[in-house]
Amino acid sequence: MEITIRGLRKVYPNGNVALDGIDLQIGRGIFGLLGPNGAGKSTLMRILVTLMRPTSGEVKVGGMDLQRQRGRIRRLLGYLPQEFAHFPRLRTYEFLDYMARLSGMRSGRERRRAIESILHEVGLFEARDRMASQLSGGMKRRLGIAQALIHRPRILIVDEPTTGLDPEERIRFRNLLADISSGEVIVILSTHIVGDISSTCNQMTLLNHGRIAYAGPPEGLIEKARGHVWQITVGDRDYVDVSAKYPVIATVPGRDGWAVQLVGEPPEGFPALPVEPNLEHAYVYFMEYVLQEKVEDALR
Ligand code: ADP
Repeated sequence: MEITIRGLRKVYPNGNVALDGIDLQIGRGIFGLLGPNGAGKSTLMRILVTLMRPTSGEVKVGGMDLQRQRGRIRRLLGYLPQEFAHFPRLRTYEFLDYMARLSGMRSGRERRRAIESILHEVGLFEARDRMASQLSGGMKRRLGIAQALIHRPRILIVDEPTTGLDPEERIRFRNLLADISSGEVIVILSTHIVGDISSTCNQMTLLNHGRIAYAGPPEGLIEKARGHVWQITVGDRDYVDVSAKYPVIATVPGRDGWAVQLVGEPPEGFPALPVEPNLEHAYVYFMEYVLQEKVEDALR
């Protein structure tokens, strides 16, 4: 199964251009959608889950047209929205049973089997009798995944799923998405957390002002930052000056002052060592230099 997006535009009634001609091909694995606030991520997700119609352009899901075959495509989709509303007075099991009924599963036996299997998959079987209101943040998010997967969709769309999770829960959640995608489900993950992308996604796109700034594997974006990440050592006084002028990514106290990692051109007057870039560096490089149009076409 593949999702093909061609020339997608969305102009809101007030004239805001949220998507300005998007072309994308999304295949197997976990596809990451990264971009600053206002880039158009939510708009693209809303269109993909058929909650909103584009102004123009075309989306094909497994060869079907998103506009003409909405019902059929909806059955292929599972969606975990950012503001996932669970029912706090229902137990985990009851909530999933309710969602399974809504998705059209009539047979009690079929529902029981589906719910038990999904509870095991998301690691909530032990918490099946707990009130949803008493689940931790990470467990609620996993319950969200369970409800999105109950009808066994081929595509799972998750919007900012790790926001607010503690590091352990975040890792568990990322691993869960990896497990799901290994079972032939396309996972589309929108996030502003770079670590979500670098640790899970095999393909990604960077959106900016409704356009694609980059599409490809995360490693390709990292390559664009090569030669633009530096480390210098500065004393207290210079540190203030340097951090005001340059996008500083990390500062580590060292023996001779501060070891400062920054993105861009090496600052004059300091011996600079090149640093092996990672996705976070690449994203900051993009945000600071490309978004501000300091380096035109840097990512083309
Ligand atoms: P993101 O999810 O990346 O933060 P959005 O898709 O929410 O981006 O927004 C993209 C652009 O569209 C922004 O400029 C935003 O202000 C605008 N926008 C989003 N929703 C609406 C709306 N309902 N009406 C008008 N403009 C909107």
